[in-house]
Amino acid sequence: MKKDEPNGPLPLAAGDEIVVLPMDAPPANEVVEVVMDLQRAGLRATLGDESAVPPSAWDPARGQLRAERLLALARERDSRRVLALTARDLYVEGTPFVFGAAEAPGRAAVVSLFRMHVGGDGEVFRTRTLKEAVRLVGRTTGLADCAHPRCVMHPAATVADIDTKSSRLCGACLLQASRRLRRS
Ligand SMILES: [Zn+2]
Repeated sequence: MKKDEPNGPLPLAAGDEIVVLPMDAPPANEVVEVVMDLQRAGLRATLGDESAVPPSAWDPARGQLRAERLLALARERDSRRVLALTARDLYVEGTPFVFGAAEAPGRAAVVSLFRMHVGGDGEVFRTRTLKEAVRLVGRTTGLADCAHPRCVMHPAATVADIDTKSSRLCGACLLQASRRLRRS
């Protein structure tokens, strides 16, 4: 392993649990895989209740969901740290699409499974989804975007960017996360 290769899991406080909330009926097996993969990555994750998405969250002209609406819905559905999952494509104002979004800092994140399948098989899909889930939960804890292309906190513009990065934190992000944890 190279010296600067990211090698730390995202640290969360003891008892800090990520509640995965399926929205608008994503495939059940993919939802379960996300929960299992988060657990394997060393995070406490549990499956929450499924929600329908209100019509106001859907932009019919774009064929995409508004990420902010899903964050608001996730916050309403559960008072813990929440990760909404949808199979539909997402956007925030001023972008063509986003892989996900998060309150940064806050407690709500959302990941879209829509683009994770692009040019990838099941294992690639799972790994991409895990990386973006970790990044967005990391954003809720206050971690910033990272310039290290292999760090999980590196913001991906393309699925190739996601494939390039690891699912772990670089040394600088790990230090920042550990400091935040000690302060909380
Ligand atoms: Zn980093």
